[in-house]
Amino acid sequence: MPRYAPQPHQRFAAMAGVLIVITAVVSVISYVTLGLVQRDTNHLIDRDVPAMTFLLRLDRDLTDAQLLLIEAHHHADTPKRDVLLTQFDRDVKSIAHGLERVRQISSSMATGPQLSGFERAYRQWLEAAQHARRVMAQGAPLHQRKAIVERTEAMFTPVHALAASLENELYDKQVATTSARIKREAVAARTALLWVGIGAVVLSVAASGVIAVSMRNRQRQFDRRAAEQDRYNAQQVFTGRLTKAFEMAECEEDVLRLVEEVLHRTTPGVTAELLLADSSQAHLHQVATTDSETRGPGCTVKTPRQCPAVRQGTTLSYAQSDEFDACPYLRRRGDKRCAATCVPLTIMGQTVGVLHGTAASAEVFDEQTNGALSVVAARSSERIGMLRAFTQSQTQASTDPLTGLLNRRSFQDQVAEMMHAGKPFTVAYCDLDHFKALNDKHGHDTGDRALRLFSKVLEDSIRPDDRAARWGGEEFVVALCGVGVGEALVILRRVRSALAQALSSGTMPNFTVSMGVSDTEMSEDLEVVLAAADDALLTAKHEGRDRIVVAGQAEQRHYLESELDALFANAEQVQSEAEQALKEGAEAEPAD
Ligand code: GH3
Ligand code: MG
Ligand code: MG
Repeated sequence: MPRYAPQPHQRFAAMAGVLIVITAVVSVISYVTLGLVQRDTNHLIDRDVPAMTFLLRLDRDLTDAQLLLIEAHHHADTPKRDVLLTQFDRDVKSIAHGLERVRQISSSMATGPQLSGFERAYRQWLEAAQHARRVMAQGAPLHQRKAIVERTEAMFTPVHALAASLENELYDKQVATTSARIKREAVAARTALLWVGIGAVVLSVAASGVIAVSMRNRQRQFDRRAAEQDRYNAQQVFTGRLTKAFEMAECEEDVLRLVEEVLHRTTPGVTAELLLADSSQAHLHQVATTDSETRGPGCTVKTPRQCPAVRQGTTLSYAQSDEFDACPYLRRRGDKRCAATCVPLTIMGQTVGVLHGTAASAEVFDEQTNGALSVVAARSSERIGMLRAFTQSQTQASTDPLTGLLNRRSFQDQVAEMMHAGKPFTVAYCDLDHFKALNDKHGHDTGDRALRLFSKVLEDSIRPDDRAARWGGEEFVVALCGVGVGEALVILRRVRSALAQALSSGTMPNFTVSMGVSDTEMSEDLEVVLAAADDALLTAKHEGRDRIVVAGQAEQRHYLESELDALFANAEQVQSEAEQALKEGAEAEPAD
């Protein structure tokens, strides 16, 4: 089952997502914790500590006021009394103000009954103290003042005790609790922030790692692609140069020599050969090799069908020639161990060859070498195919489709070239006799076969330098290069006897041929020579057909004809005597 492999950017995005979520969660925790710390700190600063402070001040003012009353009692008749009583009034005011502040600050605290108890006791003391102040201000007698001051002292004691109790049990505790909570919350906030820091660092390290790995992989990928691109560009340049070089090859031979040269240069360490099928497509032959001395590597495969690479139509590589799965023609070769690559060649749609290379080790066949072999095989086969197609189309354009002989136009061109080159030749017009009757009697197909038979006879009877063409219908023309009329007559006579011989088998109805002959001695104008031959042919027809007539001199013609007839008659007699002798000799042998 294919595994899902996330892309680097997806990993990074996931990482960043986790980082964001964790940071958000920890930030919320930190925010809440710091909020609590802030709230409790605010309580401490704005409420608990001021309440405590005012209470302490209130307690101090209370004590001061009580002490001023006592002192004023001792100085009742001196001017200092009024100073003391004025101070007492200030303290009472300060106490009232302090109590108001304590009340305000403590409104959000659970002071409840304790504060009310204190206030009740305070009001009673205040009442008694105010009374004592009035009495003292009026200069009351000592015993009266003493009794009243002692009363205030008696009332002061519970007020002071309640103030102390409020300080110790309520405000002190409140401050202690808030402080402890602030400490706890501060620790929690610190811890949360620490985790945020640690998490952020860990995730940052991880993210950096992922990014670094991803960047490294990307760089590698980029390098690989750049190297591939370079290789591709080099291959394109090489292919372009090769294409240009092959385009300049004018014939197959040029292509094959170019294959040898290119392989020699571009595949060091490889011995290569090109095997191509012959025209019958039945046999493979070595047509190019990079080893001109030993003509290696020398694959012994005989036919295209036997070659696995050709059969499969694909490049085959073998790491070791002695492996069980190596090509049989490689294993059988018995050389020392080698590696090999075989690239099939397709020419005009048919796989008809193989480019075969061997090397000491498989490492030689790297990407570059294999690429060179493939490109050479492809470009050379393309060029050979093009040259063959060109030749084929040229042949088709210059030959008669029924007989394969030259057509009238290409005959004229080629013979004009011969004339231009100053080569003498003899021309013979050949026209099959009563061909219409043959067609009518035996059918058009038989007529075609007769035309092909005569063409073959004609072609077989002349030399490579001579030219034969179908002039049209059942008319042919032949140019015998470098021969005069005398020699030409011998050749043409041979044509006629070869035709008679071919017809003797009886598979074809008998027909004869009339010929008119002229030569370049007569004129340097081809038209004139041809016209003379045509005239001679007409004469041959008029004189009864199945004969050769030489244009011009009638005496010479008759002389030549009769001489040839005598010669051929003599030759036929000699031949029949020889056959007879052979026959007799053969019969006599068993009797011995
Ligand atoms: P002659 O001895 O005077 O030359 O008589 P002929 O019958 O050979 O000459 P004619 O010109 O009267 O007839 C030529 C015949 O050749 C007519 C035509 O049917 C036949 N012919 C021409 N071209 C072809 C061809 O391509 N195939 C076949 N089967 N017959 C052809
Ligand atoms: Mg004719
Ligand atoms: Mg004819």
